[in-house]
Amino acid sequence: MYNAKSLKAEEFISDEEIRETLAYADANKDNLELIDAIIAKAKERKGLTHREASVLLACENEEKIKECYELAEQIKKDFYGNRIVMFAPLYLSNYCVNGCVYCPYHMKNKHIARKKLTQEEIVKEVTALQDMGHKRLAIEAGEDPVNNPIEYILESIQTIYSIKHKNGAIRRVNVNIAATTVENYRKLKDAGIGTYILFQETYHKESYEKLHPTGPKHDYAYHTEAMDRAMEGGIDDVGLGVLFGLEMYRYEFAGLLMHAEHLEAVHGVGPHTISVPRVKKADDIDPSAFDNGISDDTFAKICALIRISVPYTGMIISTRESQAVREKVLPLGVSQISGASKTSVGGYADPEAEKESETTSEQFDVSDQRTLDEVVNWLMKMGYIPSFCTACYREGRTGDRFMTLCKNMQILNCCHPNALMTLKEYLEDYASEETRKIGMELIEKELEKIPNPKVKQTTYEHIHDIAEGKRDFRF
Ligand code: SF4
Ligand code: SF4
Repeated sequence: MYNAKSLKAEEFISDEEIRETLAYADANKDNLELIDAIIAKAKERKGLTHREASVLLACENEEKIKECYELAEQIKKDFYGNRIVMFAPLYLSNYCVNGCVYCPYHMKNKHIARKKLTQEEIVKEVTALQDMGHKRLAIEAGEDPVNNPIEYILESIQTIYSIKHKNGAIRRVNVNIAATTVENYRKLKDAGIGTYILFQETYHKESYEKLHPTGPKHDYAYHTEAMDRAMEGGIDDVGLGVLFGLEMYRYEFAGLLMHAEHLEAVHGVGPHTISVPRVKKADDIDPSAFDNGISDDTFAKICALIRISVPYTGMIISTRESQAVREKVLPLGVSQISGASKTSVGGYADPEAEKESETTSEQFDVSDQRTLDEVVNWLMKMGYIPSFCTACYREGRTGDRFMTLCKNMQILNCCHPNALMTLKEYLEDYASEETRKIGMELIEKELEKIPNPKVKQTTYEHIHDIAEGKRDFRF
């Protein structure tokens, strides 16, 4: 029985409801009257239900799809402006007791190099990340109660926040670790994490159980209910995601939106972010073994429809995707991207060792291999402002704070100046000459867009202060 407010996985992600939704979407995919009404509702920027969004996903009418793309672009502009927040993943350990068949870290993979960073090695990795200019990390670790217990994760977070190298600092640590207990989530909250990220992988229970044949992750309900426990533990910024390619994408899309609706219904706050990874090649993993792969066009359509269905939720795209795909989907609503990522354990401080080694510790092949400077340069040439902002969580604006910012129309007075000030820091401390030149011109131009005269004046002053060597200003 479908019930968005239930705390039971099988009820808030009801298989029956998803199947009915897909049937409803198929029956209405040519119903232009209904489609127009759904698009009109989306234009009010209050989002769409999983049923409504599923009709648009099933719709093949080119004109209507174009309308959805245009709306996604407009919502992206209105809510997120031309800013793109930057982050990097940091792999702490690839020891894992689970058997996920799509991930090279699965326990039975005997030829992958197993590594776990010591605190000294974390210092080296984070120093390397700081030297690139990163301020926001997402830490990743396999599930292994012996090798990667919560104490190890907590100690690592503490180490990461404590490292101050030159002008570098990691100001926000997001955490992507296995589903855990309320008590452990509380500990993560107390450690000062940003977002807790956990991908569902697939919402299809039967497939989920087959794809996770062994280990604690096999338990579909425990995994699917993790966000509720995280919220109970006080973490109100949670990040959802599915691994597209494992199951039918339309099923996943409906499940993803139902999960968002559930969090909103129970906790009053939707997900902070949604990630849209696709299955990629990796050691021991051949993506063609999964027959639900989606084309770049379908991928773009999914991104656009997520944007119009949950306008207040940030959307993340990683270096799993190529530069070309990233260019295609950025305007459709992506608000955060990773740059210069290494998906191996210890890959930042010693990339050569990984290359020379006969065994890899990578989780997946990175498609976009550019340096952070190249990514920043590329974004600015396309008219985006790369932002290293981490202000909200440090100002205690968690949970529905982004919504509050949006509703009060404070984005241009808050996110925008924060983006410019953090970009200025990047340009001063890490950028190549060419990138710095483009960036300085961009900042000059974008400063004019700050509506509040007082905020504008303060931003001008801080930009000047940053040139003088001061750091870490925020609204
Ligand atoms: S996806 Fe996560 S839980 Fe599964 S094998 Fe990989 S690291 Fe382990
Ligand atoms: S001010 Fe808050 S919402 Fe805006 S970019 Fe910074 S962290 Fe994100």
